[in-house]
Amino acid sequence: MKIVMKFGGASVADGESMRSVGGIVDRFKTEGHELVVVTSAMYNVTNSLVGAATRAGKGQREHVKRFVEEIRKRHLDSAQVAIKNEEVLDRTIQTIESKCEDLKNILLGIAHIGELTLRSKDLVIGYGERLSAPILKGVLEDFGLQSISLTGGEAGIVTDDHFGGAEPLMNVTTLEVRQVMDPLLEKGIVPVVTGFIANTQDGTHTTLGRGGSDFTASIIGAAIRADEVWVWKDVDGLMTANPKIATDARMIDRISFSEAMELAHFGAQVTHPKALESAARFQLPFRVKSLNDPDDEGTLIVKEVKVKDGGVVKAITNIDDVDLITVSGASMFGTPRLAARVLEILTDEDVDVLLISQSSSEENITLAIPKDDGSRAQNALELTLLGSRQVREVSIEAGLSIVAVVGAGMKGTPGVAARVFATMAAKNINIRAIAQGSSELNISFIIKKQDAAEAIKALHDDFKLGGCP
Ligand code: ASP
Ligand code: MG
Repeated sequence: MKIVMKFGGASVADGESMRSVGGIVDRFKTEGHELVVVTSAMYNVTNSLVGAATRAGKGQREHVKRFVEEIRKRHLDSAQVAIKNEEVLDRTIQTIESKCEDLKNILLGIAHIGELTLRSKDLVIGYGERLSAPILKGVLEDFGLQSISLTGGEAGIVTDDHFGGAEPLMNVTTLEVRQVMDPLLEKGIVPVVTGFIANTQDGTHTTLGRGGSDFTASIIGAAIRADEVWVWKDVDGLMTANPKIATDARMIDRISFSEAMELAHFGAQVTHPKALESAARFQLPFRVKSLNDPDDEGTLIVKEVKVKDGGVVKAITNIDDVDLITVSGASMFGTPRLAARVLEILTDEDVDVLLISQSSSEENITLAIPKDDGSRAQNALELTLLGSRQVREVSIEAGLSIVAVVGAGMKGTPGVAARVFATMAAKNINIRAIAQGSSELNISFIIKKQDAAEAIKALHDDFKLGGCP
């Protein structure tokens, strides 16, 4: 099979974990598969680069120097643990030194001007991957494989210049990626490609948005027409519920893209939604594999999955720590533009709206948003809307959770919602707001945070999701 394997920050957190990645790649290569490896930056490095870029923008030169020294040391230490062969190690060390020198010059340049643009930020925050990929390449060579490390741009990924969240131009990308990858794969070389970063057509550096390495894997997989994309995780694939809450939760072996996207939206942070979206578009099977158990098949995400008898619900998921904002006013009736206005204000504030519900009398609109954005969102809404005659009050309630019941089989199956709410009633759990996507792939509702665990356990039992499939 032709497989694109993506390793996230936690799987390349230090020298030892990079060595285990080497073992996994070696094993599947030896089994005869053609492999492309996509890697993230080492754990938390991108976050620290974001911080350093910001401080450089404020002219903090001394901080920049200290920061690059730390990053340099962390990567050199990891390379020393991960790579045994002296010659390979020497070459890798040289690469790390020269990349760190580049990074220092760029950051000092930004500090000198005292201004961080979106464009220069994208250049800086891609250094995590520029540093991790050569180490992983060295590890693969150490395992006796032939390897080469490439940036996303070198691998052929071409994007628009929407810095901070660039979109791939799939036609050129497909051509270019194949031109680069096909000859390498034919020779049995395992390319290690930096996730997250790419170039525009004229060579300017871009990033695909935070968490974008999964997206890189999908883009490359689509371009080379891979048989599957494997995203390696330190969790056991996609579960029927959080196993810390429902102790008999089990791994889902097959799930559709649309169901997986619902799960991703409702807190099951297994893969980047854009990665799923593009894999779905190119009909690219996407597998979540567990680093702890490489023999296990993991969860396969495919276009369509037959709904087994009784299997209307696939998983119960939750987002803790949400705030509920209610915009109310007597004269909101028949003012559809107000809902649009509310969403526009929150978009401008960069607030992620997790759930919306509007009562049919249209006297209020209720929105669930992450706790950390709560008061900022409330302020912005009050500031803009309270002067208008339509809105009387913008209130906020904290300490809530969203619980979502997800499954493609709910579509056209009457009674699922009734069952969900009967289960909640039996447990005496009060529901604050409800929403069902018109896709009928999920029913989600809001309850007090302290009731969430009990609600999830009860639903997991009631829909018989636990135990053996
Ligand atoms: N290193 C990038 C980030 O932290 C991309 C990724 O890990 O997927 O956002
Ligand atoms: Mg990630």
